[in-house]
Amino acid sequence: MKDLKELVRPNIWSLKPYSSARDEYKGFEASVFLDANESPFNNPNNRYPDPLQIDLKKMISPIKGVPADNIFLGNGSDEAIDIIYRIFCTPSVDNVVAIEPTYGMYKVCADVNDVEYRKVLLDDSFQFSADRLLEACDEKTKVIFLCSPNNPTGNDLDAKEIKKLIETFQGIVIVDEAYSDFSSSESLLKKLDNYPNLIVLQTFSKAWGSAAIRLGMAFASAEIISIFSKVKYPYNINRLTQKEAREILSRNSDVESWVKTIIEERSVLIDKFSKLDCCIKVYPTDANFFLAKVSNATKIYSYLVNNGIIVRNRNNITLCNDCLRVTIGSRQENDALIESLSKYK
Ligand code: PMP
Repeated sequence: MKDLKELVRPNIWSLKPYSSARDEYKGFEASVFLDANESPFNNPNNRYPDPLQIDLKKMISPIKGVPADNIFLGNGSDEAIDIIYRIFCTPSVDNVVAIEPTYGMYKVCADVNDVEYRKVLLDDSFQFSADRLLEACDEKTKVIFLCSPNNPTGNDLDAKEIKKLIETFQGIVIVDEAYSDFSSSESLLKKLDNYPNLIVLQTFSKAWGSAAIRLGMAFASAEIISIFSKVKYPYNINRLTQKEAREILSRNSDVESWVKTIIEERSVLIDKFSKLDCCIKVYPTDANFFLAKVSNATKIYSYLVNNGIIVRNRNNITLCNDCLRVTIGSRQENDALIESLSKYK
């Protein structure tokens, strides 16, 4: 890996972060708070939340096996994705490389930040080659985006190729593990110490059943995480989100049983979906959704909408011609989908 200083934008490297009122008295017990121009009324929402989310990170740390200093919390992992651009990529100078197709926000954030986004097509099995991604890089490539299991294809990326890429690329490699709880492959969190150029993204929006609270996680070296903390808005995770997150973290075993149920339902639904007349192929999946090639994705999508059932039409996405992306729902929701599609002509 290049020196972090060479990879980080010069203005960010030298950035003096905003110091919030609550940062300054750390270490002292206090009961009178006249420092932050808050209201004395409407407790507890009158007070700014903990800018570094210390209690929450203390709960996440043992569950993920990662020290609190290696954790950034964002307003969804989408905030982490945007911050990655703002830390590493100088607009209209630097570029990033990503697999294609993949999660759409990597490109949207590149466009918002005026950063060139280079796509490298996956092969017919939706796998990538480290060499081909590296060929797309030049000296201005700061970041490579991988997503495993990948959205919208559903499959895990080849672990050997991921390892080769992280070990060879001199810049930052992002591995988005939003769906890794549904996969039997090992998370890369255990390898964080070996790879100073690795950032792993995870989220509370999928397995943890908490998309509404908007909470995402980035795991990386303490040095990278300290730069995330400089760039983020001071109070990016609101009090209600921190409270709800602590609550769901204390129900870790419920989450494990939800994941088990979703994985069981995934086999049942794929089995039934594959037998439908309109289904051409269901692609292998390691996520809480599957991609299926159907006779006519746009027609079937509209038919389902008319029946009050929403799936994702991925017809216009590269390599996903006539494909629908279907989330694994409850048994009742999955049955409604199959019942509706079995009447489709
Ligand atoms: N990464 C991937 C691969 C996703 O599919 C999604 C959401 N669909 C996200 C990140 C965003 O997650 P969050 O809700 O934490 O912003």
